[in-house]
Amino acid sequence: MTSAVPEFDSIVVGTGFSGIHSLWQLKQLGHSVKCFEAGSDIGGVWYWNRYPGARTDIDGRVYSMKFTEKLKDLWDYKERYPTQPEVHAYLTAVLDEFDLRRTIQFSTRVVSAIFSHANNIWTITTANGEVFTSRFFVPATGPMSSAKKIPFPGLAGFKGQWFQSSTWPKEKPDLKGKRIAIIGTGATGVQLVPKLATVAKELIVFQRTPNYVLPGRNFNIDREEADEIRENYNAIWRMSEKTDFGLPMVPTGKTFSEMKDDEAQQALDRTWESGGFHIMFESFDDVFIDAGANTAVSDYLKKKIRVVVEDPEVAEILTPKYPFLTKRPPCGHGYYEAFNRPNVKLVDISKEEIDVYDNGVKTSQTGVHYEVDVIIFALGFDAGIGALSEMEVRAGTGPSLKETWEKDVETYAGVLVPGFPNMFIVCGPHMPFGNMPLVLDLQVNWIGALLQYMKDTSATRVSVSDELAQAYCKELAIIFGMAVFAESSKKLGSWFVGGNIPGRVIRPLFYFSGIPRWRVWLDKEREGNWKGMVFGGGERRIEGKRRAGKRRASGGWVGNSEHKKRRRGTVNKG
Ligand code: NAP
Repeated sequence: MTSAVPEFDSIVVGTGFSGIHSLWQLKQLGHSVKCFEAGSDIGGVWYWNRYPGARTDIDGRVYSMKFTEKLKDLWDYKERYPTQPEVHAYLTAVLDEFDLRRTIQFSTRVVSAIFSHANNIWTITTANGEVFTSRFFVPATGPMSSAKKIPFPGLAGFKGQWFQSSTWPKEKPDLKGKRIAIIGTGATGVQLVPKLATVAKELIVFQRTPNYVLPGRNFNIDREEADEIRENYNAIWRMSEKTDFGLPMVPTGKTFSEMKDDEAQQALDRTWESGGFHIMFESFDDVFIDAGANTAVSDYLKKKIRVVVEDPEVAEILTPKYPFLTKRPPCGHGYYEAFNRPNVKLVDISKEEIDVYDNGVKTSQTGVHYEVDVIIFALGFDAGIGALSEMEVRAGTGPSLKETWEKDVETYAGVLVPGFPNMFIVCGPHMPFGNMPLVLDLQVNWIGALLQYMKDTSATRVSVSDELAQAYCKELAIIFGMAVFAESSKKLGSWFVGGNIPGRVIRPLFYFSGIPRWRVWLDKEREGNWKGMVFGGGERRIEGKRRAGKRRASGGWVGNSEHKKRRRGTVNKG
């Protein structure tokens, strides 16, 4: 059994937005913190996904952090949708501003995290066999960090080069004049295609399911606009927090049926011209839940594809035959236009499988061979549950998180998992579907408040009650069932229901009721004296605070002065 006093108050895994914010928050609480990062630098997805064309799909104004006032003056993004190098540079600036780098151990993959019920301590083991202990375990491993395994057995014999978008090499590969195949036309593939099209001798795009690609309409941000963003930074965030998906958008307040024909047309034209996700959130208020509203947007977008793509047969293949939002719509920057180039070919693989062979890609049934020099895989991610399922995460001798989630994913607000005490997930399954930096800002704040409460009450253990987690999951499932795309997303294997991973149980992995409603769940707990939490190890009552649970676990609050002295070697270890 490990010592009653852990080495660290908290261990964080991951250094993307959620890891960095968590590190800052835990430092504010006075925690001793250790962080592990598998990459050789910070950034999480913004470190690994350095493929050509990688940039945010969300307005940079809210693709940032706001945990202190200082942050708004730290950085000005140069474009509406910042590029991967810029987001990475931004995260680096945040990290260095708050001197958080020293807590991070790079190039270190965590392989297991085991909680001891005897002393309320997590034991974390890394791939190189190092062992660390902490009171709290904060996996900030991200919802899109575990890449879908490449399923093509023929790849072993491929004589050319191949790359996976999510582990793109640091040394930029020379793709100029090459014959390139790309498999995958989700948000990643859609960003890659226009970039590859301009350098490839020939680009062959293998598409299984077409997407509704929204026009990005990127632009540069000049000095004047950057100043304006900074001046309105807090107001933009406040406004975004009130929207369901955490974006600086103003819903019309009207459903499709409440609008006359010309008003509906104007709403569509206006939001199409604004670009990005505006058409999802500023056209009709019921695009997610009303078949009529959804069809109006779907039909509008289908027509636009036919306007841009010159070859009607190609346009037809690129046109989705399912309701808008069944798959998360990608943001395009010259995507459809790329198919008008003579060097770009679209191959419809909706009706037959493909495999890789020694000289390229072939269709399995009709046996058509496409000879290429390079293959690029942009096949997506094991969303929400993938990263944490790759580690052995276990409480005592109970089932691992992977085993638990194979049957059922149960969380409270996407933060706590019943049966896994002292573990706070940041940006995992069941978090609200929306702008992640904004969601995690609220999530990490809430975790901070709970940890402060535990510190005040000397509690050393917290778990969520089954009732609270069940109530949250029940609402999550009911609301998802109301979406127009509830069934089509399952049928078409969308990642937000886990349907893109063969063998997965298909169920909603994210909360679709909107951020304001999700906040009610968090606020109710925080303001309601943490009634849904089960505490342990509390040793003292503090005025106005609920007495921490009766159970006395061994070990005390790690941030106490005795532990600090122990770490400095000034306390007798005997
Ligand atoms: P994705 O949306 O899941 O797309 C994966 C693509 O690979 C799909 O076109 C899929 O086809 C195809 N595919 C998978 N397995 C295949 C197979 N065996 N044979 C043929 N095709 C196969 O993944 P993603 O593009 O990486 O995007 C995932 C999410 O990450 C996005 O929705 C977004 O939330 C996030 N993301 C964000 C940004 C950004 O903000 N800038 C950029 C990239 C990604 P099917 O559709 O038929 O399964």
